Amino acid sequence: MKADNKRMLVGRERKPADTVVRVNGIAIGEGTFTVMAGPCAVESLEQTLETARRVKKAGAHLLRGGAFKPRTSPYSFQGLGSKGLEILTRAKKETGLAIVTEVMSAEDVPMVALVADILQIGARNMQNFNLLDACGRQSKPVLLKRGLMSTIEELLLSAEYILSRGNPHVILCERGVRTFEKYTRNTLDLSIVPVVKKLSHLPIIVDPSHAAGIRDYVPALSRASVAVGADGLLVEVHPRPERAKCDGSQSLTPDGFDRLMKTLRPIARAVGKKLR
Ligand code: PEP
Ligand code: MN
Repeated sequence: MKADNKRMLVGRERKPADTVVRVNGIAIGEGTFTVMAGPCAVESLEQTLETARRVKKAGAHLLRGGAFKPRTSPYSFQGLGSKGLEILTRAKKETGLAIVTEVMSAEDVPMVALVADILQIGARNMQNFNLLDACGRQSKPVLLKRGLMSTIEELLLSAEYILSRGNPHVILCERGVRTFEKYTRNTLDLSIVPVVKKLSHLPIIVDPSHAAGIRDYVPALSRASVAVGADGLLVEVHPRPERAKCDGSQSLTPDGFDRLMKTLRPIARAVGKKLR
């Protein structure tokens, strides 16, 4: 994407005012800081409800959790599928939290959109053009994660697919990119936030969990994300991370998440963002 390309729907030249994505009474975009938290995967009703209650109490605005999981190995837990969607529906009913959950294929979009308040397109699917197309042809907001080895320009062009098919409700998400560094799972590229703010009107949030891969680093990266001007966070939380079927090593405990939320508020205030 060229910053001076006037045809780009995602570009600031075309739309100078920030896009605010509204979901369930929450406004995601300039002026607010939105926190989406929950387990990597929906594993059971109990695990999901317990997490939902705890993250809500700590101040999260949306519940995240995957029913369909894109796993590197075909032998790893692949998610509960439609049963996972039913569990998310129960969690929403009980807590009132809006749901963000991943959709992995174009055919599944109508089914997942019945439950999700925000459809997540995972890093591995950032350039699945049929999926981008299908998400662009429906009206639920889309959380588009940056690919493991994708440039900012490629991310914006993937968002352009969704907007050009008629859906303007797109939130971008930085989740770390692959580099030579081994002490973290991925390298969190926080420079994307001011770059996207300059090039585009779309909101951008940060996922420090998949970037770090290690729980201990998540709080500092979360605070840095608020400070750099991100519009929100996507954080993995599990009531018993040591027993998680997926991404336990990077999941915060509910107590850890509660402590983190308390440290984010003064930073949000300092950068002029409301964190309810
Ligand atoms: C996830 O959010 O659990 C996930 C699989 O993330 P990513 O697509 O960024 O790896
Ligand atoms: Mn995960």
